[in-house]
Amino acid sequence: MPEKNDTIFGKIIRGEIPASKVYEDDEVLAFSDIAPQAPVHVLVIPKKRIAGMNDAADEDAKLLGKLLLVCKKIAQDKGIDKSGYRIVTNCGPHGCQSVEHLHFHLVGGTQLTGKLG
Ligand code: 5GP
Repeated sequence: MPEKNDTIFGKIIRGEIPASKVYEDDEVLAFSDIAPQAPVHVLVIPKKRIAGMNDAADEDAKLLGKLLLVCKKIAQDKGIDKSGYRIVTNCGPHGCQSVEHLHFHLVGGTQLTGKLG
């Protein structure tokens, strides 16, 4: 069972609010971003509550690797692996993190700009 937590993503994990899920297993959930920035914009999150990269611990190394591999799998499933994509995680105020539950943005399906900020 996922830990109880009080972010919007926690509510999605617990099924309390709907999301367009694209992948789920016992540790990871992926769903479409509600405000997509590109034709493909999926959020890949751990079911375990990790508030952000600052809160990831050595014991989370395997889970962090899995999150990236799930991003790769979804990119393949969505047919954007060859054209390319971006994986981003925002951390803290300067990173413009708005939801305090670790998430990787998988973005693609169009030519992205070279800018990060
Ligand atoms: P951040 O700004 O923290 O890096 O990314 C948070 C992302 O979560 C944003 O891209 C935002 O559109 C998305 N988001 C916020 N609330 C919801 C929601 O209720 N459902 C979904 N699917 N995405 C959400």
